Amino acid sequence: MTDSAAGDSGENGAGDSRPAVYELDPTCTLTDVEVGARYVATVNGVVDYGVFVDVSEEVSGLLHESNLDGETFDVGDELVVLLEEIKENGDVSFDLADVDLEEADVLAVEHEPEITAVADGRVGDHVTVEGEITQIKQTGGPTIFHVADESGVLAAAAFQEAGVRAYPEVEIGDVARVAGTVEEHNGDRQLEVDDVTVLSGEAAAAARERLDEAMAERAEPSAVDPLVEWEAFESLRPELEDLARTLRRTVLEGRPIRIRHHADGDGMCAAIPVQLALENFIEEVHEGDDAARHTLKRLPSKAPFYEMEDVTRDLNFALEGRARHGQKLPFLLMLDNGSTEEDVPAYKNLAHYDVPIAVVDHHHPDPEAVNDLLDHHVNPYLHDEDYRITTGMLCVELARLIDPSVTDELRHVPAVAGLSDRSKAEVMDEFLALAETAGYDRDDIEDIGEALDYAAHWLRYSEGKTLVGDVLNVGADDDERHRDLVEFLSTRAARDVEEQLDAVEPHVEHERLDSDAHLYRIDLENFAKRFTYPAPGKTTGELHDRKVRATGEPVITIGYGPDFAVLRSDGVRLDIPQMVTELNEEVHGGGVSGGGHLVVGSIKFVEGRREDVIDALVEKMAEAELDEELSTTIELDD
Ligand code: MN
Repeated sequence: MTDSAAGDSGENGAGDSRPAVYELDPTCTLTDVEVGARYVATVNGVVDYGVFVDVSEEVSGLLHESNLDGETFDVGDELVVLLEEIKENGDVSFDLADVDLEEADVLAVEHEPEITAVADGRVGDHVTVEGEITQIKQTGGPTIFHVADESGVLAAAAFQEAGVRAYPEVEIGDVARVAGTVEEHNGDRQLEVDDVTVLSGEAAAAARERLDEAMAERAEPSAVDPLVEWEAFESLRPELEDLARTLRRTVLEGRPIRIRHHADGDGMCAAIPVQLALENFIEEVHEGDDAARHTLKRLPSKAPFYEMEDVTRDLNFALEGRARHGQKLPFLLMLDNGSTEEDVPAYKNLAHYDVPIAVVDHHHPDPEAVNDLLDHHVNPYLHDEDYRITTGMLCVELARLIDPSVTDELRHVPAVAGLSDRSKAEVMDEFLALAETAGYDRDDIEDIGEALDYAAHWLRYSEGKTLVGDVLNVGADDDERHRDLVEFLSTRAARDVEEQLDAVEPHVEHERLDSDAHLYRIDLENFAKRFTYPAPGKTTGELHDRKVRATGEPVITIGYGPDFAVLRSDGVRLDIPQMVTELNEEVHGGGVSGGGHLVVGSIKFVEGRREDVIDALVEKMAEAELDEELSTTIELDD
């Protein structure tokens, strides 16, 4: 609508200044004109009862002979008319404007198209959409532009010549108007483009502001009540809401998301629900069944931190995606991983590019090292809480904030996460009761955790989306298969653990430390079965649990290989990250690195200094104070 035209005509009509006459662009339609305004017109037909005039290619109307004051016109004559009426049926009538064009202010009017929300265009409609260009993909045929507004993302196909880039002036991030016809393409709506106009200056700023406001509104997370009331959790909730908002916004802006998560039970319980919720939202926003597959990728990380190998792979994938598919670079979401100093090199590598990073983790964090590199860092330790709030518990709520419709599928997941990581959460019983309502007793929940761990082990670096979903029964559709699969995998896992423990048990060395704690050591390189399940981390953990049960007293267990050691402790106040720092200073050329939770972790060192490192480690452990209360430990990284 030409608001300015209406306003000006009113003011100018009254007064001493030159009268305003509008000259319409040929593409102008009825939405661009106003009753009472004057227009430059051309006669296109003469009839008994008057003359027909065009004010644009789209807008014509009758100047009735009663309004002609006896004047006569021929086809092709130019005159100034006053728009008298627009009837409901679209017919337009004009009057003669008593204005000499020579003495008027002639103002050009561009066509202001009616903007259709991308979600509203129906097949067959001719529409103009306005949004941000989020992806530009050159196919062997047309160029495919993705246009995002607050209602969704639509593909728009512009054809110039096979394989030739149409509208080369259009860039990702531009705000543009795309006009065309909505057609059906492989079952999805697609815009067949007539014209693309990149907005600039004030028009672009106004459009951006409008989009920004509308997207911010749509990005708002859902108001959901927590699955269980838990005071300790509440300090983390606002940050989860912020992150849910960012993730929804990321989807609306058409930026891909990459999820990296720890490859264990809790890590899976964190990643799978968030993946499901995001996929649902992506499908709501983007046209096309395949959108989620192109927009969201999840991959496990074997190491308990973001390895250079993983980040290089992710970065390479992202840059290829940009080059090949004209995609934006992704948003990285780290789950049950990513809070520590060991993640810094990977983050610094990403910082060379536009890749925002968010972390949800419950490993002991190094906020001074990582926070500057992160957009979000959700970690219970940053709120004086601890690992008992597991990442799976956090992410079930995160998933519900993104898409509350996933709630019913997730009732058992916090319990699986909690048992997998041996959380001492005060609400574990409530989580287990919640799982009961979904048909799972405690044994079932433990079995799911074991089965997940087993599947994660063999999946190694693969996503295994369907398999993992079937094991956890999230985004899955066959209850019986889920039950059978869990039984099969958890039984195999238990059998493998027994075999491993039977193999190592005769070689476990025991000593009593000065503090009275038991120390158990096992040489995993020589006495454990390698390259099978359970890996060194879990082997050490299972052995440790056995010793805690057998003694009922404080226990430290070290499982070591040529260049690594896995540490578990119960009833002893260890600070593994601190020990790593000290070992590094004390054992010169030891190359010690690692960390994890306070009392559970793994360290690496150079093979030639193994004996010195382990001796120094045992010395530190002997000095550690005992806890008054014996607690069960939490799950460990491989
Ligand atoms: Mn965890």
